[in-house]
Amino acid sequence: MSKSAALYDRALNLMPGGCSRNTVLRKPHPLYAAKGLGCRVTDVDGISRLDFANNMASLIHGHAHPAITEAVTRQLSLGTAFTLATEAELEYAEHLLGRNPDFEQIRFVNSGTEAVMSCLKAARAYTGRPKIAKVEGAYHGLYDYAEVSQTASPANWGERSRPASVPVASGTPKSALDDVVIIPFNDLPTALEILTEHQDEIACILVDLLPHRVGLIPADDEFIQGLRTWCDQHAALLVFDEVITFRGNIGGAQQNYSAVPDLTAMGKMIGGGFPVGALAGRQEVMQVMNPLSSQMKFPHSGTFSANPVTMIAGKTAMELYDTQAVKRLNAMNASLMEQINQAISQADIPACVSGGGSMFRIHLKPELPSNYRETYSDAEETRIRGLLLDHMFDNGIMMINTCSGTLSTAMGQNELDQFCDVLLQGFIKIKP
Ligand code: PLP
Repeated sequence: MSKSAALYDRALNLMPGGCSRNTVLRKPHPLYAAKGLGCRVTDVDGISRLDFANNMASLIHGHAHPAITEAVTRQLSLGTAFTLATEAELEYAEHLLGRNPDFEQIRFVNSGTEAVMSCLKAARAYTGRPKIAKVEGAYHGLYDYAEVSQTASPANWGERSRPASVPVASGTPKSALDDVVIIPFNDLPTALEILTEHQDEIACILVDLLPHRVGLIPADDEFIQGLRTWCDQHAALLVFDEVITFRGNIGGAQQNYSAVPDLTAMGKMIGGGFPVGALAGRQEVMQVMNPLSSQMKFPHSGTFSANPVTMIAGKTAMELYDTQAVKRLNAMNASLMEQINQAISQADIPACVSGGGSMFRIHLKPELPSNYRETYSDAEETRIRGLLLDHMFDNGIMMINTCSGTLSTAMGQNELDQFCDVLLQGFIKIKP
């Protein structure tokens, strides 16, 4: 029995499913990590793989970057959590605000879930309205309101022109379903019609510019600009979820768009490998969280928020992710997507690749999907995707289980070539 299998045997009854996050599950058992260095991870059985999962797109420099390790080690010996403010927090706030002139103020939290939740609560507090609008199928973390429709399927998603507010869990409060308005992705006329039906009740529109579960398809500039205009006309706020997409430009993928949001949720990569979240945006809106202001309407706190270890790791990581690094990773991803397309042609398999920034997703369907409904995988696509992912893992490549991947600055052309060689063999293997 492998060491991973033995560890999973021990874990199975300790935690539901034997783990604390479903994303590590694999059949017949999850693999257990022993160590990671640069773009490679070695499991407890001594097998090393190229890491295109990067802890669910949260590691921009791969594993154990020497500068981050050194900065964090220095802080560890000074203490890790205080009921006092730290200089590390304000230095990191200065750094992140300096990356995007539209970030007037910022607050740190501990996860992307918390960042999105805080944006939605701030928007409700600011506008005094109950509802949020979000894109069908989009993933925004675990807050009741943000997760509505995340698991929509043909059995329950309703009419295309009026997508249903599908609950994720039994027990999702009916009030949450009633207060979430679902709009289709990149379909501005339908989205505007739906929004206008709720115009006096919508606090904000929450949107991801490259939503992973919707298909990792970039939002059209006209779609986002149209939502911005609607928000301005109806005194609602526009919130971008940049928990994943922040890597797309120096101050977030939003810098590739003409519309400016009121609030932005961040997480993942800005923690330098540690748990993190942040929300930033217009000062007037952020003031709803200011306990020193008469405008305070949303008391906001968190025991580990702005933890100095995270602040130092994040700042070190982001300083290394400068304009040059952003350009290099984005160009590498564009060329990888071309190579993937070549492998698809060579294998002559019905597949395609979507993506942007330094992320890509392989779809085992002939045409590029343009929304969640077209991205949705039937049982057969799910089955062959599983075979392809197993092939990638068995041949030394880790990917995210939607058949997606992200790049890290630890990678170069050799890693892309290795990825594409293994992928081509995989395509040939699973070809119908
Ligand atoms: N928003 C987006 C777009 C995400 O991809 C995720 C996580 O994958 C989240 C929010 C939630 O972040 P976290 O897992 O840190 O709570």
